Amino acid sequence: MFKTLDDLISDRHGLAGKPVLVREDLNVPIHEGQVSDDTRLRSAMPTLAELADHGAKVLVLAHFGRPNGKVDPEFTLRPIAEALGEVMGRHVGFLASPDRHAIDVLEPGSITVLENSRYYPGEEKNDPVLTKQIASLGDFYVNDAFSAAHRAHVTTEGLAHLLPAFAGRAMEAELKALEAALGKPEHPVAAVVGGAKVSTKLDVLTHLVGKVDHLIIGGGMANTFLAARGVDVGKSLCEHDLADTANAILDAADKANCIVHLPYDVVVAKEFGANVPCHTANVHEVAADEMILDIGASAVEALSDVLKTCRTLVWNGPLGAFEYPPFDTATVALARTAAALTREGTLVSVAGGGDTVAALNHAGVADDFSFVSTAGGAFLEWMEGKVLPGVKALEA
Ligand code: ADP
Ligand code: MG
Repeated sequence: MFKTLDDLISDRHGLAGKPVLVREDLNVPIHEGQVSDDTRLRSAMPTLAELADHGAKVLVLAHFGRPNGKVDPEFTLRPIAEALGEVMGRHVGFLASPDRHAIDVLEPGSITVLENSRYYPGEEKNDPVLTKQIASLGDFYVNDAFSAAHRAHVTTEGLAHLLPAFAGRAMEAELKALEAALGKPEHPVAAVVGGAKVSTKLDVLTHLVGKVDHLIIGGGMANTFLAARGVDVGKSLCEHDLADTANAILDAADKANCIVHLPYDVVVAKEFGANVPCHTANVHEVAADEMILDIGASAVEALSDVLKTCRTLVWNGPLGAFEYPPFDTATVALARTAAALTREGTLVSVAGGGDTVAALNHAGVADDFSFVSTAGGAFLEWMEGKVLPGVKALEA
């Protein structure tokens, strides 16, 4: 268990006028000098506003890009502090070289972004001297950046050992959703794992077979499993060298009473692209010059029926080459089923992964899922069953 802002805000502490160090993820995409996607700024907002409204001097810690331990104006957080202020509709200050004196003169209830934590060579080394130095700036530490929690850096991990540590609201929501999906989920649990390659998700698959009741495999990685079972997948994306690994995963699933669902009909085409000629085929009828680019309608119907029997769903990876219609069909259809079941209240649905989030947005259902994680690497490591150092430090 970890402490939240509720614990920090309790009277006992008395936050008014106290400096609170808050780790956020402000690593936003910049296009022609402008923030092109402010999702991360929006998720930082509730924690920052809540602490400021309780009179804290809010000091925001974050990294931006990879300045590799050097001061590099290309990676300054100054413009992002400004963008954060615009999103929040209140003044957000900026400190290029924070020290205790500069912080003493800040107003209670103010929000101030401190310069890029990766300007310090000690940040990514979790250097104890730097940890002490930064810890001396604040009375409390709040970690609100789940997406950086798979790294043990000063601002994501080290500080939690020197200051009373709390999870911010975004971190709290993410941890609760992930706990409900794979920590202590309601069974039956289904996992959808799709995407391009088995090799990038070996640890995910291995971990999930011991955790879930149904493992639904789609996308390019389904081809590797089909091929391992002796199916000729033509010129589909397929990692033939992983046949033994795929079979070992299927055996492990069998032992763990996890039912693996592979497609039995697929959509095939001779080339890769949008709206190229294509047709549905049984997996045993893929021609030598064809590739599998989506799973078929019958498979989707069967999978929808599986989801209807489940209480929990965790999803990473699209079922087909969804960037090229009509190979988005299965992903969109199954995502809509999951969304409908979630709305009806029979399913807790959690999804994550860069392309998965894009696919759910494309299907127009991201808001209907119980939780959609934008955390990328940290989400995948969590799906692998790894303990994230930033989370562990909060629990200590
Ligand atoms: P995420 O980012 O959600 O973790 P991945 O990066 O693992 O997902 O996989 C997404 C990619 O997988 C997409 O670019 C998609 O086009 C590709 N993909 C899915 N199915 C196939 C397929 N049958 N053949 C080739 N590529 C596929
Ligand atoms: Mg991806």
